[in-house]
This record gives sequence, structure tokens and C-alpha cells, in this order.
Amino acid sequence: MRKLTGGCLCGAIRYEITGEPVAVSHCHCATCRKATGAPFITWITLAPEHFAYTQGEPAIYRSTEKVRRSFCGRCGTTLGYAADGYDDELDISAGSLDDPARVMPDDHIWSDGMLPWLKFADGLPHLPGSHWEHGYPDRSK
Ligand SMILES: [Zn+2]
Ligand SMILES: [Zn+2]
Repeated sequence: MRKLTGGCLCGAIRYEITGEPVAVSHCHCATCRKATGAPFITWITLAPEHFAYTQGEPAIYRSTEKVRRSFCGRCGTTLGYAADGYDDELDISAGSLDDPARVMPDDHIWSDGMLPWLKFADGLPHLPGSHWEHGYPDRSK
């Protein structure tokens, strides 16, 4: 099993990923856009037991009643997303990995929210909502 490491821009927070992702997805929802200040964010969906902070603790912002967004309270790097009631998964921002090229995206989620000036030629599926409604990618291939 490979290990991936990452952390925030200022270095206060470090983490490691010790299992294979369930999915790697570009999220085009308006809330992720606001939370990150970027046109979309790439999330690595993991089983929580495959993730651990190894240094520091993130700040948490509840963007809705059920959603917890974690970030560095010092430098602001977006780190994670978790939702109450979906405790078997956790999203970590691919952009905070030390080497994001080591994960391969599977799909675009909340694609209905994609900005009109984004044009992708990656051939990946566009799901109009989340994996919860539309199913998970087959990563066995
Ligand atoms: Zn930081
Ligand atoms: Zn989103």
C-alpha cells in the first residue's frame, strides 16, 4: 500500500494517506468554489481510517449544518470536507498533497455548476451531483 503525504502552505499542518482512494473528483459546486476561492477543487475521497494528521490540527468551518470544511487556521489552505451522516468517507484536497500528480482523477462531480469558461478534454464522466446519488467510480481497473 502506498503512502501519500501532504500539508498546508505554511507547514503547520501535515497529514498522511495510507490507503487507496475511493474516488478522485473535480468538484464544481458553488460552495467548494467559495470555500477555496478557485473555480473548482479536486477532492480525494478516502475511508477515514486511511487518513491521519501527523502534525497540527485544522480549523473547522461548517458551511452547512451537516458539512465540516477543514483548513489551516494560519495560512488558510483548504484541507478537508466531511459530512455528518457519511462518516465512512472523508475528502482531502488533492492540491494540498506534496505530489498531486500521484493521484489520477476519476470524474467531475456537481458538473451542472461548472463555470462556462472551463473546457476539459480529459474524457472523464460528468456527474450532475455527488457520488452519493450517482455512484462511485470503478477503480479496480
Ligand atoms: Zn498553514
Ligand atoms: Zn463541492
